[in-house]
Amino acid sequence: MSRRTLDLDDTLYNYVLANSLREHPAQTALREATRQHPHGGMQISPEQGQFMALLVRLIGARNAIEVGVFTGYSALTVALALPEDGRLLACDISEEFTRVGRPYWEAAGVAHKIELRLAPALSTLDARLAAGEAARYDFAFIDADKTGYDDYYERCLQLLRPGGLIAIDNVLWGGSVAQSKTDTDTTALQALNRKLHGDERIDLSLLPIGDGLTLARKR
Ligand code: CA
Repeated sequence: MSRRTLDLDDTLYNYVLANSLREHPAQTALREATRQHPHGGMQISPEQGQFMALLVRLIGARNAIEVGVFTGYSALTVALALPEDGRLLACDISEEFTRVGRPYWEAAGVAHKIELRLAPALSTLDARLAAGEAARYDFAFIDADKTGYDDYYERCLQLLRPGGLIAIDNVLWGGSVAQSKTDTDTTALQALNRKLHGDERIDLSLLPIGDGLTLARKR
């Protein structure tokens, strides 16, 4: 009966949402606003967001990192799950995209937890390492340019404490990682997936949720 993960048709997917989704009104509103956006497909699904929020709470995260904010739904979701004195270092290069999310962060009362850095994420993360913040963070979500993932992963691994968790989005890339595609995004994700499989620094799970979500727990 349960040899493998179910295929979700629309009926079953809608059942999952109807019977589990708990969104703050600001999350629902931001998701709707982003749906109209030309790049709206880049937003994570709400059930994936809720799962990540649960993970943030499970590990008692206070300091979190996000690489790739887009319009801010996942930042809002993680910030809502952080304690009142929690902080999310949100890295992105687009003022245009991240500007969409700000009013919703405000409406949800979590804007003070989100420190948005508009700069190449690698520069931001390297600056934090140089400032002595290694092992100071509990949770990281990587969801940005796929060819940069390996660098983001290595920096986040240093910034996380032992027992901290990195979540990496789009690791199945619409299924293309299992096909003989040679575009740079697919090959970057294939190489990262291969590397993490054998990476002794982490405990690992690759979940077929959304577009594929890898969880890497720092040992
Ligand atoms: Ca994504």
